[in-house]
Amino acid sequence: MKPLPDYVLQCLSVFFEAGVEAFLVGGCVRDLLLGRTPQDYDIASAAPPERVMELFDHVVPTGLRHGTVTVLLKEGAVEITQFRMDGEYKDHRRPDTVRPASTIVEDLSRRDFTINAMALGPKGLVDPFGGLADCRARIIRAVGDPSRRFSEDALRILRAYRFACQLAFTIEADTKAAAFPLFPLLAHISRERIYAELSKALSGSCPSRLTPFLKAGPLAFAGLPPLTRPYPDGLPAFLPVRIAALCFLCGCSAQSFCAAMRCDKATARESRAAEDFLLSPLPASSAGWRRALSAFTKEELERWLAAREILTGESSAMALQRLRKTADAQPPVHMRDLAITGEDLLALGYTGPAVGKILRGLLEAVWESPGLNQKSRLLELARQWGR
Ligand code: ATP
Ligand code: MG
Repeated sequence: MKPLPDYVLQCLSVFFEAGVEAFLVGGCVRDLLLGRTPQDYDIASAAPPERVMELFDHVVPTGLRHGTVTVLLKEGAVEITQFRMDGEYKDHRRPDTVRPASTIVEDLSRRDFTINAMALGPKGLVDPFGGLADCRARIIRAVGDPSRRFSEDALRILRAYRFACQLAFTIEADTKAAAFPLFPLLAHISRERIYAELSKALSGSCPSRLTPFLKAGPLAFAGLPPLTRPYPDGLPAFLPVRIAALCFLCGCSAQSFCAAMRCDKATARESRAAEDFLLSPLPASSAGWRRALSAFTKEELERWLAAREILTGESSAMALQRLRKTADAQPPVHMRDLAITGEDLLALGYTGPAVGKILRGLLEAVWESPGLNQKSRLLELARQWGR
């Protein structure tokens, strides 16, 4: 198991010295047992938030309604939540009430999957549902009755696939069988929560494990038609590329998908650019690649070429070679690379919008023939165009 960072140990020792029960819980325990580096560390403790605020100097009340506060230490932040039980679920998404629980085992029993329902405390691992065995067997298994757990909070269905994609795990047969008929319940879940899980699933090392889920079309209510071909593994590990691939395979536009999922502007913009590249003919000449390099980086274009090859089955080797050769020559591709500026054109007598138009024309000429990019030659062209 990976060693714990000092700030996490420091945090646990404050509880220990105060005689308050506290455990690392959830994703960090799972990741530590799997030899992965946890994204963040969560602690469950017997203390109510007010007590935690007394124990530490810098505490932010990040989720008091759920008994959660965040402790800020020099090297990191730790989320601390009081042991808790969930009340009734009436709308397939959130418990109507939550109440403090008295034991860690109660707290673990409300968690979604066995691999996420372990705690690490001063006496070692607390593992009432066989999470360690399931980690070893690489299995996603619901805690308790899977149909009930998926009906309570339908997002758990997508979370099962998300963990399968991230960890390259298999969803256990009863858990999978319970999930399938309940896919329609996902329509009760907010787009933001769906996108948070779906984007993690797509970004995982094995997004192909989403295929059976996406083939059933459970997100049609959000404008994502059923997948018609398997979602591949091995696409470049960039979310926008994976979103563009998803839209390509489902036959919808990245623009409408990103709008429906309310995803952030940068991801939406990059997904659309990747999609444009996938749907357009490849540049057929070095000039075409120079034009492409004026809008995108070599790395972006390489990624999109790799995605295109995987999605269309057509080799990108020649195109890749041409792109690299073109980019490595570091040709002038941007307006700022031109050997003349707007000032030079003003001096020739051009004014207003004509200046921009001529500069654009010169840039296009330079994409065709980079050798033209000399002040005298560009000025000569500009003079000719003015005649
Ligand atoms: P990651 O490392 O990707 O954040 P994680 O396991 O920490 O994975 P979170 O979404 O951060 O996932 O949730 C933290 C923990 O809270 C989970 O490990 C699980 O124990 C519990 N949990 C989160 N969402 C649910 C849910 N919808 N139903 C039940 N338990 C949940
Ligand atoms: Mg987490």
